[in-house]
Amino acid sequence: MKKLLLLSIFLFSINAYSQKLSRTENQLSEIIDKNYRETVALLEEVVNINSGTFNMEGVREVGRVFEREFAKIGFETEWITLPDSLKRLGHFVATRKGTKGKKLFFIGHLDTVFEKEMPFYPFTMVNDSTAKGQGVNDMKGGNVMVFATLKALNELGLLKDQTITVYFTGDEENAGSPSWVSRLDFVERARQHDYALAYETAQGFNTATIARRGASGWTLKTTGNQVHSSGVFRESVGYGAIYEASRILNQFREELAGEQYLTFNPGQIIGGSDISYDGDTGAGSALGKTNIVAREAFVTGDLRFLGEAQKEAARVKMKNIVSQNLNGTTATIEFEDGIPSMPPTDGNRSLVTILNQVSMDMGYGEVKAGDPGSRGAGDISYVADYLDCIDGLGAMGSGAHSPAETINMKQYPALIKRSTLFVYRLLDM
Ligand SMILES: [Zn+2]
Repeated sequence: MKKLLLLSIFLFSINAYSQKLSRTENQLSEIIDKNYRETVALLEEVVNINSGTFNMEGVREVGRVFEREFAKIGFETEWITLPDSLKRLGHFVATRKGTKGKKLFFIGHLDTVFEKEMPFYPFTMVNDSTAKGQGVNDMKGGNVMVFATLKALNELGLLKDQTITVYFTGDEENAGSPSWVSRLDFVERARQHDYALAYETAQGFNTATIARRGASGWTLKTTGNQVHSSGVFRESVGYGAIYEASRILNQFREELAGEQYLTFNPGQIIGGSDISYDGDTGAGSALGKTNIVAREAFVTGDLRFLGEAQKEAARVKMKNIVSQNLNGTTATIEFEDGIPSMPPTDGNRSLVTILNQVSMDMGYGEVKAGDPGSRGAGDISYVADYLDCIDGLGAMGSGAHSPAETINMKQYPALIKRSTLFVYRLLDM
């Protein structure tokens, strides 16, 4: 009898251990509730400051609000400036240094796509569960989650002697170019940490991002012999620049389309006897006649990929296609690197495993890794080669980058709690 009782106590405790939260975790959850009004007030404050990427004062102002708040919870804050030629204001950084546990690198961005000239939409509660406002989910909601998470942990003294960096870039929506300059400090600091946690918009309550495709560009130029069109196809004349460009594009599609995670889109084509193109504005012009064999053609496009190997392999195939010129034509292609990709590594997967356990223990259901193909490039991709990464930890909402942008306020407290417990467990490892 006694044995049976002991056994059942033992089984119960295993059950309780895997299903329930520790005392500290329950306390953290209570602190999130206690601070929630202030959290929403902070969200309202930052959403109501316009911080379009090119509104430098606005970006700096949002940075100042976070300086004020992070200083209150014991972080050192600083503003990272960029060379004037980049025409970007810089980045906000808050740090704590210590010797204990894993080193965490939090990623957010201060800017939004909404410039000052655009109509302004302040933070407004639409109903109990929805609020709207510029950048409310992309990603001021996420930035505020980072703060609320760290504030709660700080209140219980759990950040003592830990190494944490919070890095909010000022130009995520339109990064200063070249990106190796605008992201130099970002990458250098990230490398000194174990895990990168990015609070971009969540793709779903039960989805985390462990992979994002990278983005790059290409420019194709072709030439042909400019003669009377009646001679086209003739051995001495050839096919002209436009046929050559269309041959190449068609072959790209036939030979490369459909590969998983790979896309390439010609976004613009100009052809004729004389063409011009302005890379800054994207405007171009062409002069030509129906009775002239085209002398030049120009195409620009993008190339999205998962992993450098896929990008490089695609470029080799494209170059090979470009080199098989039609008679009487020439063609060259140039590739330009953009944002690297974030491949789904085992290290990234292990972060989802931990988040999933937290979520299950809280009774919030399973969290799984989302489809790498469904998410565009982001700041975390610049550091994905150096540390384990997870993204999509931020707020939920809809209509990002449009005047209809909303945040789901019903799930917001739950997301903050889960984020706090996730970070608590990471620090404790
Ligand atoms: Zn964003």
